[in-house]
Amino acid sequence: MSRIAYVNGRYVSHQRASVHIEDRGYQFADGVYEVIAVINGQPMDEKPHLDRLDNSLRELQMKSAMARPPLRVVLREVIRRNRIRDGILYLQMTRGVARREHSFPTMQATTLVVTIRPATLPPPEALRAGVNVVTLPDIRWKRCDIKTIALLPNVLAKQHARETGAFEAWLVDEGGFITEGSATNAWIVTKKGVLITRHTNQSILSGVTREGILRAAAAEGIELEERSFHLKEAKGAAEAFLTSTTSFLLPVLKIDDTVIGGGKPGKITSQLFQRYVKKLRINKKKRKKQDERKAAFSTSDSV
Ligand code: PMP
Repeated sequence: MSRIAYVNGRYVSHQRASVHIEDRGYQFADGVYEVIAVINGQPMDEKPHLDRLDNSLRELQMKSAMARPPLRVVLREVIRRNRIRDGILYLQMTRGVARREHSFPTMQATTLVVTIRPATLPPPEALRAGVNVVTLPDIRWKRCDIKTIALLPNVLAKQHARETGAFEAWLVDEGGFITEGSATNAWIVTKKGVLITRHTNQSILSGVTREGILRAAAAEGIELEERSFHLKEAKGAAEAFLTSTTSFLLPVLKIDDTVIGGGKPGKITSQLFQRYVKKLRINKKKRKKQDERKAAFSTSDSV
């Protein structure tokens, strides 16, 4: 079956999907995006993802390509046309096509592209023992709360991680504090069992998975602090892990050359992972039941 993409009002073959060479996304990285997990044919955490998208658009004074209800229809139609049960949706909006000039064009028609690919969720890495991270100076701009497609520092950081045999790069600010990963949020657990992740402001992206894990931690009665933590504190932590839509929750077993938690996933990390996956399974079951009910309804309808 060939893949289908959505581009500006049309469902087209993924292979032939394209935008104009003067699209501002291509020329200036003048655009925003979201990555949404699809579980059992349904977008997961759709509302927080679309809320964050609205926030990114607002901060860049960009108009959404469409209102939320039709956008939700497009996401579902892309899932349906590609017959995806578990996968990753990619949604991108840019400030459209215009003659190349830095300032905004007077006529703006936001470009919207939606693609999807199948994926095993939770990702197979999550079932491995854990991953290693390397640290690098955070050289990004000062608005990392905006989910923009301008990802060059993140690309370079991830490439460095790959070249040094690590899964992810954790970025370190000028004070020596960890901000986040190149495409993930960073967490540690102190020796006293306190869960720590950096507070959200303009220096990190407010991860949708991060929010889910914060709720899971509260429900588990885990002591929690949202604050900056120094690289030194991270290296001395009892546990560490990272989170994102595509990685879910991965234990971190080594930061640079320092082994964390004796090289094994810690208790709180595993507890949170179990709870998060349970939530997915519950959602899967719920959706399966909904699907079955829908199917039964349509069968009885046709009799
Ligand atoms: N930080 C950065 C820089 C990211 O790119 C991502 C992934 N989009 C995250 C954190 C995690 O966000 P989420 O849980 O919403 O995928």
